[in-house]
Amino acid sequence: METCLFCKIVSKNIPATIVYEDDRVLAFEDIDPKAPVHTLVIPKKHFSTLLDVAESDSDLMAHLLFVSREVARRKGIAERGFRIVTNCNPESGQSVYHIHLHVMGGRRMLWPPG
Ligand code: 5GP
Ligand code: ZN
Repeated sequence: METCLFCKIVSKNIPATIVYEDDRVLAFEDIDPKAPVHTLVIPKKHFSTLLDVAESDSDLMAHLLFVSREVARRKGIAERGFRIVTNCNPESGQSVYHIHLHVMGGRRMLWPPG
């Protein structure tokens, strides 16, 4: 999707600090981190929100979750603890409409989130 910010990161038209990449998934550092570790994990395929993902994309979504776990390991926060968050639609605070998992940690996380 040519107008999508994260699709432009996938196509390398916008630079990002890449943490992990394979044929289906890309992980890169959030430009405005809200925790010492704050990495975004996205499918290369464009979906605007979680509501747009079909059952037939189940393998991709599972892979996204496993890559997020691998990112937590690579960033050294797996054993201490980390959080995976996804926002869906305006009231959640979603600001980029290409689905992404936030992998966050390196500090004690608050619960419930704001
Ligand atoms: P959302 O608010 O949609 O859940 O999360 C979007 C995230 O994307 C935010 O944490 C924001 O800081 C991050 N972000 C927005 N624009 C860019 C960008 O151009 N590059 C990177 N690396 N992150 C971005
Ligand atoms: Zn996109």
